[in-house]
Amino acid sequence: MKKNAPLAIIGAGIAGVSAAVYAKRAGLDFVLFEPGPVGGQLLLMESVDNYAGVNFGTKGHELANNLSHALSELGIEITREEITKIEISEKKLKINTQENSFSFEAAIIATGASFKKLCVNGEDEFTGKGVSYCAICDGFFFRNKVVAVVGGGNSAVEEALYLSNICHKVYLIHRRNQLRAIDYLQKELFSKKNIEVIFDTTVSKLEGEDSLKKIALKNINTNTEKTVSLKGLFIAIGVNPNTSFLKDSIKLDDSGFILTDEEMRTSHNFIFAVGDCRKRPLRQLITAAAEGSIAALGAYKYLKGGYVSA
Ligand code: NAP
Repeated sequence: MKKNAPLAIIGAGIAGVSAAVYAKRAGLDFVLFEPGPVGGQLLLMESVDNYAGVNFGTKGHELANNLSHALSELGIEITREEITKIEISEKKLKINTQENSFSFEAAIIATGASFKKLCVNGEDEFTGKGVSYCAICDGFFFRNKVVAVVGGGNSAVEEALYLSNICHKVYLIHRRNQLRAIDYLQKELFSKKNIEVIFDTTVSKLEGEDSLKKIALKNINTNTEKTVSLKGLFIAIGVNPNTSFLKDSIKLDDSGFILTDEEMRTSHNFIFAVGDCRKRPLRQLITAAAEGSIAALGAYKYLKGGYVSA
């Protein structure tokens, strides 16, 4: 296992792998940390239909396999250790895993985010078989069908609006009687004839056979239950950035997302952050990949000085 290199790349989702590809092509030596499978959230996607140049219908896991293949083609080894702590001093950082301690001059953090789960019966069983966490990625599979979105924030309302243009009917299920989403989104939501908002309601159970068929709903005021038949359930109750190990060392926003400038530099000019762990306006594969490339060239500039042709 490689222990000495100037640069650490932490995470092998599409942002981290793109950073690794660009760093390798720039001639940088680095350690790539990833305890889990290569691809991150790609592995949850039914299909990737919004990434120009990738064939429509490509499965998320197929693109993840392509990322693994790119790493092995370039001879990039993965250090399969989970980082427990980062210690930052003036111009160095120390990375601790359960097993080892490493020292680096620069780092690119690409640890992603995890969709918050509802934690109800059937959620795991039907993920990818009716349950999705991304309407833009998977909505296409539910055209002309009945679906529901859970959540009351901007993401849930945006997902419901997006799905209302594809699906026959969309339920928006929210646990309170007031949405958190911004006014103009709410206005658009209530103007849509095929969206029905169900307030004060939680999802208590998901049922089906090979795929999701119905959900059980519970009104929290009356405790009454009803079931709704549908094909898809989109859970949009927020994401948690995977940044808890950085809490006291890098500037994060109130929700734990890493704050960067447009060159992906964090509050330390030798540490970069890319992809879903970073505060960003568009959480998509294509933006994550682009950010990885920008950060790799930023790291090159920091470590070697000057510019590099990619
Ligand atoms: P969010 O604003 O945190 O909203 C999450 C929603 O899910 C809330 O309505 C919350 O209910 C509900 N919720 C949370 N846990 C739940 C659970 N266990 N069961 C049922 N409901 C649950 O998350 P978000 O909508 O993903 O947005 C995240 C951030 O990105 C926000 O700052 C948002 O403004 C921003 N964003 C902006 C845009 C935009 O500007 N166009 C688009 C998307 C996201 P309560 O309301 O009861 O807490």
